Amino acid sequence: MSNKRDYYEVLGVSKNADEGEIKKAYRKLALKYHPDKNPDDASAEEKFKEAAEAYEVLSNAEKKAQYDRFGHAGMGGAGGFGGGMNMDDIFSQFGDIFGGAFRGSFGGSRGGSRVVKGTNLRVKMKLTLEEIANGVNKKIKVNKLVQAEGVTYKNCPTCQGTGRITRVAQTFLGAMQTQSTCHVCQGAGKTVESKPSDADAQGLKRQEEVIEIDIPAGVEDGMQLSVRGKGNAGPFNGAAGDLIVVIEEVAHEELRREGENLHYDAFVNFADAVLGASLEVPTVGGKVKIKMDAGTQSGKVLRLRGKGLPSVQGYATGDLFVHLHVYTPTQVSKEERETLEKLRDSENFDPQKAQKDKGFFSRMRDMFS
Ligand SMILES: [Zn+2]
Repeated sequence: MSNKRDYYEVLGVSKNADEGEIKKAYRKLALKYHPDKNPDDASAEEKFKEAAEAYEVLSNAEKKAQYDRFGHAGMGGAGGFGGGMNMDDIFSQFGDIFGGAFRGSFGGSRGGSRVVKGTNLRVKMKLTLEEIANGVNKKIKVNKLVQAEGVTYKNCPTCQGTGRITRVAQTFLGAMQTQSTCHVCQGAGKTVESKPSDADAQGLKRQEEVIEIDIPAGVEDGMQLSVRGKGNAGPFNGAAGDLIVVIEEVAHEELRREGENLHYDAFVNFADAVLGASLEVPTVGGKVKIKMDAGTQSGKVLRLRGKGLPSVQGYATGDLFVHLHVYTPTQVSKEERETLEKLRDSENFDPQKAQKDKGFFSRMRDMFS
């Protein structure tokens, strides 16, 4: 499903690497493949982006946990789930890696202003086990901020297009210079010059949009998929935020999920358990028939290989465990009672007498414990 390289491999660190090691490894790669150092080298740019994406995930505890658990399928911008990181995302990440001075020299050509990112949109998506088993394409309607047409922009008069406001304060140590992000343009360096009536002060408007999402097979309740760039548009013609899809698993009527495995409680006829029978069992792919041997004990578990759910990384498929419970009728007719009274006296029905093999009970206890 994904031909992306493992993020740990990209950064050349082990899975147990701590925050400091991850940061150090990324810093090294970012310096090596930085576009300013490798002009017109497409492969260096690819490596630069790849490293930035790996760092973005592994440096964030929540994203890292999601990645460790679900692999690329659990990530935004991975496994075909949205695009990669753009350069603006990468440069905005640099602040905390290299400090302000570094950004100043590298991001110099971009000036002080930055692309302001739109907010993320979160939506919940209910999925049935059948949908989870196969993966599903969903269309969802979201109400979001989009770029309005016909908006023109001008340099922000408050910060003169730099995105920053510099203040000089007189202190007892002398003049101290401080810089902060411009509150008018949020650092974009521009403001709206003219706009149609339906646009807001940032050049955006609200609109319903249908977004198509491919949900990979094997997702779990609570898992978050992010679709890069499908969130709210950024103010002042900035970059769009992400659409975060939170998976909600609808409880199945008969099947119980445990990771990739499924469990089913089958209540079987007492006579069937004695004589053997064929049973119909629900699976995520429809009903299947299975054989129950003669002399089946209550509590026996049958394992149907590959009838569980696929793992979200696509490596393996779980199994379906059928738990057999012999059903005991709560009332009987006169004829049934007479038959049962006869059976009650049969040696075959006395577990102690019937089992000449002394190890039987301990084996059974082991099996069900
Ligand atoms: Zn400004």
